[in-house]
Amino acid sequence: MIAWAESIADRLEALRERIAAAADRAGRPAHGVEVVAVTKGHPGEALSAVAAAGLTCVGENRVGEAEAKEERLGHLGLCWHMIGHLQRNKVERALAVFDELESLDSERLAEKLQRELVAVGRDGFPVLVQVNTSGEASKGGFEASESAEAVRTIEAVRRVCELPALRVRGLMTMAPLTGDASVVRATFRRARELFERCGREVDGFEPEVLSMGMSNDFEIAVEEGSTRLRLGTALVGERP
Ligand SMILES: *Cc1c(COP(=O)(O)O)cnc(C)c1O
Repeated sequence: MIAWAESIADRLEALRERIAAAADRAGRPAHGVEVVAVTKGHPGEALSAVAAAGLTCVGENRVGEAEAKEERLGHLGLCWHMIGHLQRNKVERALAVFDELESLDSERLAEKLQRELVAVGRDGFPVLVQVNTSGEASKGGFEASESAEAVRTIEAVRRVCELPALRVRGLMTMAPLTGDASVVRATFRRARELFERCGREVDGFEPEVLSMGMSNDFEIAVEEGSTRLRLGTALVGERP
């Protein structure tokens, strides 16, 4: 675990240099970009190693896997982010483990969250609305690759922001898996534009977090305005 923490710290240092260079190219400060360590698929020790390396947020994409890790190791003083599709029948369990949901991908899920939060007397649960700005059907989230879809998505974000137990802190998106950097860049740019429009047009939307960028595309994401990277492979290592 110590060795793992050291290699995470080393990789983080190298990644931070690349993040800083990308931020510099875009004329923005590198401290405006936070890093979530994606520990999904790794054993629980990965979370301990992430904590020991000085990082504070982890991303998991399965409720059962996160529950098992937390049961064994505790919360480790980390902020646990759900980054995968959340089934409505697992909302109650997810709320017991996760501190933030980055992948709010439907209004029905938002409404279910609202009901469960009221039931347990919780309020201000942080969520990001997941948007699909790539046009790829395989990616989840509210469709927003075309301008008519973007308008509908903004209306959906508005309704989500009306749910009082949720605190909508921003948007999350994923780029398509492609070697074509211009397609990735266009996807991120559309997400950024949508983020800014939501900030201007939607009451209750807090434009704090634009979560985009993974191991393969984080530099483009930083250049296009990401405020949060979700880094698995490049930071924690190859998933077994
Ligand atoms: C797995 C995953 C990541 C991290 O992917 P890497 O390519 O390993 O960095 C980020 N975001 C989401 C939503 C994921 O599912």
